[in-house]
Amino acid sequence: MKVIVCGAGAAGLAAAATLQRSGADVTVLERADAVGASWRSRYDGLRLNTTARMSALPGMPCRSREYGEFPSRDDWVRYLGDFAAHHRLHVRFGVEVTRITRAADRWIVETSCGPIDSDIVVVAVGHDCQALVPDWPGRDGFGGELLHSSAYRNADRFGGRAVLVVGPNVTGTEIAHHLVAAGAARVWVSCRTPPNLIQRKIFGVSVNVLGMALERLPVRVADAVCRLTAWFLFGDLQRYGLPAAGDGVATRLRNRHQAPAYDDGFVADLKAGHIDVVPAVCGFDGDDVLLDGGARVRPDVVIAATGYRCGLERLVGHLGVLDDSGRPVASRGHTHPEAPGLYFNGYRVDMTGQLRLMRRDAEALSAAVERVAARLS
Ligand SMILES: Cc1cc2nc3c(=O)[nH]c(=O)nc-3n(C[C@H](O)[C@H](O)[C@H](O)COP(=O)(O)OP(=O)(O)OC[C@H]3O[C@@H](n4cnc5c(N)ncnc54)[C@H](O)[C@@H]3O)c2cc1C
Repeated sequence: MKVIVCGAGAAGLAAAATLQRSGADVTVLERADAVGASWRSRYDGLRLNTTARMSALPGMPCRSREYGEFPSRDDWVRYLGDFAAHHRLHVRFGVEVTRITRAADRWIVETSCGPIDSDIVVVAVGHDCQALVPDWPGRDGFGGELLHSSAYRNADRFGGRAVLVVGPNVTGTEIAHHLVAAGAARVWVSCRTPPNLIQRKIFGVSVNVLGMALERLPVRVADAVCRLTAWFLFGDLQRYGLPAAGDGVATRLRNRHQAPAYDDGFVADLKAGHIDVVPAVCGFDGDDVLLDGGARVRPDVVIAATGYRCGLERLVGHLGVLDDSGRPVASRGHTHPEAPGLYFNGYRVDMTGQLRLMRRDAEALSAAVERVAARLS
């Protein structure tokens, strides 16, 4: 059975390893020149929020003593490289998948190097594939620097400058803390949707391990437990200008697929008055950034930590396999009824971490492919 896996990040590598173990002839297509390209380009100081053990991919442990308890960006990239070598995965680098089509009972994967046909295709090009910067009115006339958080590497060059971070969530809170530490002249954080804040460990236990228990609870109960925990950890942050989150951790994961923000110093900076929370950005007027309610600020730099889209429309949008928000309808080893043999990995989120789900879904999809192969033979 011939399988093409699109993307050599954690989700693609996990799927490739389990499918190869099941006897499939697997090729991974990766547009970059190395595995783990997304993580290679992420900012300095980034580490996983999930423990090494919880983040391990199928068939190769990710040991804390080797990769760190919460692996750093570089350690995680090293793990992905070691993983691909361990399983002897066949990865073709510099090949971009442009579209996937069905022809008779085969799949045609169109690529920058020509079409490739296959029995099975696994799409794993990343949940965070397309950086999203809102189309704010007047944006193009802004005289300062505007960048998406995916282009942020470290805060060194922002010392002495006034910076507005838009979106205090997973990445925005961390960048704001970096900016304070690097001596930025002023740090504002523009907040439309207040974050659900949490710490990596609570009473010495990783929050993702606790997440396994929370996932079994009704959403309302899990939300309440997380809200109480945040209150216990951080107190009332409204006193420091940060509005309370309108929805809880579990509700937001379910409805918006958005993980909580892990505090790494943001709260201490906020309490110390080093970070000013301001309302949502509604536009630009020359060098000024306009805020909801009529206020304006004049930063030198705006960092838009405004999230990502899956960006799957170009590849598979014509196949009717995506929901209204552009996410795959089928997951966990299932296929859409109209697209047998087309699988997705890496598009689910929950409180235990995406990497753990990728491992589980890779196992599920290889078991499903094994069943199909057994039926055909
Ligand atoms: C800042 C940040 C921190 C995170 N921390 C955690 C964490 O601690 N724990 C956790 O469980 N999850 C975490 N996540 C979520 C998720 O687990 C990671 O983003 C993970 O790297 C996603 O893996 P992936 O393989 O799905 O996507 P990616 O790592 O993005 O891999 C996709 C690959 O596909 C390639 N590609 C894209 N388009 C094409 C194409 N058209 N053709 C060929 N190749 C293509 C890309 O170059 C890339 O190599 C984090 C996410 C972010 C953004």
